[in-house]
Amino acid sequence: MSDAEYVERTFVALKPDAVKRGLVGEITSRFEDAGFKIMGMKMVQATDQLLEQHYAEHVDKPFYDGLAGFMKSGPVVAMVLEGVHAAENLRKIVGDTDASEAHPATIRGRYGHMSMDYADDAGRHYKNLVHASEPGEAEEEIEIWFEESELHEYDHSQDEHAR
Ligand code: UDP
Ligand code: MG
Repeated sequence: MSDAEYVERTFVALKPDAVKRGLVGEITSRFEDAGFKIMGMKMVQATDQLLEQHYAEHVDKPFYDGLAGFMKSGPVVAMVLEGVHAAENLRKIVGDTDASEAHPATIRGRYGHMSMDYADDAGRHYKNLVHASEPGEAEEEIEIWFEESELHEYDHSQDEHAR
């Protein structure tokens, strides 16, 4: 297999709770520590139109309005990361959608503990810090959030040492 069959880009967004809690640096470091290469990064105030594209599979679900409200409650930090099986590996680092079930070594498990049931019953937004594309959906999400000109090719020490 060639490098191209393993190395891929994926899309990650630090949600408004991560930004407001001052965890941008810490979370980004975990991606860098794992050897991912940052290809693009920017702060974005999400709009309804952007979120309807990004969460197309969830638009008709009962939790969508709350999710959209939360995602618009502050800026997000959008990034494109490159690495070996990046989408699958990033989702492992991010952890289970429900922080109450996420392993404590994951981002959602380390920086959160609430269950989605609690949020639903308490009428609160469910805040789980990070979005990471599912395998097979990354390129589509990158296109929704980034212009190709905002992504950067460069030599990174990880190219030689961490993969
Ligand atoms: N979500 C929610 N309530 C639910 C299910 C999902 O608020 O009952 C939100 C949550 O922020 C989640 C996002 O919708 O991260 C997308 O859901 P998905 O099942 O795709 O989880 P993810 O891929 O983010 O782990
Ligand atoms: Mg998802």
